[in-house]
Amino acid sequence: MKRIQHLCVIFICVCVGAMYSGCRGAQYYHNQGKVFGTFYSIQYEASEDMQSQIEACLHSFDMSLSAFNEQSVISRINRNEDVVTDEYFEQMYAQALEVSELSAGAFDITVAPLVNLWGFGFKHKEAVTQEKVDSILHIVNYLGLNLVDHHLYKRDARMQLDAGAIAKGYSCDVIGALLESKGVHNYMVCIGGEIVAKGVNSFGNPWQIGIEKPIDDPTGRTQDVQEIIPVTAVCMATSGNYRNYYVEDGVRRSHTIDPRTGYPVHHQLLSATVTADCCMRADALATACMVLGEKEGLALIESTEDASCYLIVADGETMKVVTSSRWNDIIANR
Ligand code: AMP
Ligand code: MG
Repeated sequence: MKRIQHLCVIFICVCVGAMYSGCRGAQYYHNQGKVFGTFYSIQYEASEDMQSQIEACLHSFDMSLSAFNEQSVISRINRNEDVVTDEYFEQMYAQALEVSELSAGAFDITVAPLVNLWGFGFKHKEAVTQEKVDSILHIVNYLGLNLVDHHLYKRDARMQLDAGAIAKGYSCDVIGALLESKGVHNYMVCIGGEIVAKGVNSFGNPWQIGIEKPIDDPTGRTQDVQEIIPVTAVCMATSGNYRNYYVEDGVRRSHTIDPRTGYPVHHQLLSATVTADCCMRADALATACMVLGEKEGLALIESTEDASCYLIVADGETMKVVTSSRWNDIIANR
């Protein structure tokens, strides 16, 4: 999950200064830190600081789904160890399969060997040849997985999983659920750019979410906001190819890989911001949009009952914004 740190600023959580609310006994807390090689920023109204509970929760999540944690469930599955899958893994797996089906294989957690081949994964980059791509394509297919009685079976032992396109969003859901279980109803959870927000900020106003302009910059230092969206209930994720890419022999290689061709995608869609019923699903759908491109990505979102999207597309020298029919529904006070 180290790669995801480059995307941590896709959203700029617009922070507010005053941290004290009018409610008796409760105040707004703002916890920040590092997790999964990226940053988290969590603001909430509560009667106590919950940072240690939040970090314990993130740690157990990391033990399940981080490919950069050698002891995690997913790493052990990748090494073909006999491992009993846990709730985090099973929930992620179910949603991943659903989005794979919806996107006809554009989203696929078995893409890991290709992600590694192109130099974006947990292994070092190898020289890429068409023969290697072809041989790896045989072991990239979510239909070759089977989860039975808390054990994951693979059609081919060389198959490996990458939850990097879905786990950050899921971790936002998990922290949102933790806060709700403690009676917290005003919060904004932002982990590596994915967001779950509910209620109002410390001024009693909707949370303000900035959608970043997709400006090419692997260092992540260039940041500009495309639009600020006020929200009172949203699960939102963004994917883009303007940070995590490299240029080799004049060809740009991005970290979104098309599992159907084995190659990094190359098209006019610069970023996809997606909302859905949960952030895990929004995260997976946003990645699927980046694989599919503008037209098919939009069609995918419109084919669901819950999702909406805000796509930023290259248009000659400029950029255009394309939104789905339900996009305005998420905006507060409209
Ligand atoms: P995201 O920022 O959520 O779009 O996730 C990007 C990461 O997901 C990449 O760095 C890869 O680790 C992984 N990935 C790349 N292509 C795919 C794909 N087609 N399906 C699922 N995961 C992918
Ligand atoms: Mg994603």
